[in-house]
Amino acid sequence: MPNATGSASAGEILELVRSGRARTRREVQELTGLSRSTLSLRMSQLIAAGYVRESGQVAASTGRPARILSFDEHGQLVLSVDIGATHANLALLDAGSRVIMRAQAEIDIAAAPGVTLRGLAKRLIELLGRAERPLSAVAGVGVGIPAPVRYATQRPNNPPLMPRWHDFPIAQTLGDLLGLPVFVDNDANLMGLGEARDRYPEAPSLLFVKVGTGIGVGIILHGQPERGIAGGAGDIGHIRIVEGEKAHACTCGAAGCLATEASGGAIARMLRDDGRDAGSATDVSRLVAAGDPRAVELTRRAGRLLGDVLATSVALLNPAVVVIGGVMGGSGSVLLDSVRDRIYERTVPMATRELFVAASALGSDAGIQGAGHLVIDQTFSARSVDDRLRPAS
Ligand SMILES: [Zn+2]
Repeated sequence: MPNATGSASAGEILELVRSGRARTRREVQELTGLSRSTLSLRMSQLIAAGYVRESGQVAASTGRPARILSFDEHGQLVLSVDIGATHANLALLDAGSRVIMRAQAEIDIAAAPGVTLRGLAKRLIELLGRAERPLSAVAGVGVGIPAPVRYATQRPNNPPLMPRWHDFPIAQTLGDLLGLPVFVDNDANLMGLGEARDRYPEAPSLLFVKVGTGIGVGIILHGQPERGIAGGAGDIGHIRIVEGEKAHACTCGAAGCLATEASGGAIARMLRDDGRDAGSATDVSRLVAAGDPRAVELTRRAGRLLGDVLATSVALLNPAVVVIGGVMGGSGSVLLDSVRDRIYERTVPMATRELFVAASALGSDAGIQGAGHLVIDQTFSARSVDDRLRPAS
């Protein structure tokens, strides 16, 4: 980090500017203790690389008016990919989280990952073409997948929904196809990151509960995902909550798991058992929003089961915010209300007095936004920036 001895690197200066801690050269100098000549050299590097812009003027309290430094958000682009069981949402964003263009790709999560990634790379190139932006303007690609991701290797770790993807080098494969750095994370982590950064920047802790085909939780502590030692943090979908004859078989091989009893996919299956036409969590969400009595009843049951598990999480972490998202998060208040009631029933008032339980504000964009934040954090960290600016030796 920058210190008073004047050794701050260009990357560290960029962090000061990006975070808003330094708005002028004078403020950078005060925070870093750099000499005027060294600061001038570092600033020239950052401006030449297109990372920092100097614009406008502020009246300084003393001395001459100073030009304002800002991170060049518009010049830096990010590609986001949110992979689901049946389709992927793709988007081109700038570093200020503004979506420039979107696309959707049909995928089969059961197909070979190499084939799926080649298809996605093609669609990303097409997306850039439609937006008339060159590949060279893209800082990196963020990918969310419905699976635990071992973050150190960027590979899926025993994903029940997509078994063929276990330990597959997604970042390396897609990175080689596109010639760009690729960062992979669990989708609930990225949705939580998007929601936390864009909607609850002051909240020290947030749980993002993704309820769709399966169930997963993103745990965001002080603005960053807590991933756990093997990428399994928040993977609550396979906690067994129903026992005996009533327990349904789960894709993980066990029975009575939260995901197979309380997800949108589980409710769709129960509706089909009643002879109803409900193929997916999306169908369930639509039926609940329309007030279908059986779909509402099953969703209330799901909310109680989910609330039972979340009550433990709330007691463990005492979070500021619990967000209910994923496809079922858009079904109206039935799921949200039953989850909230159950959490309140099962925990002490101290744990919930300041707790805010809400539906996802970003909806289907949460994962796209989170992937964008992941890429910007990684590619514009002080270390990454300094590596890029270092002259090739
Ligand atoms: Zn399971």
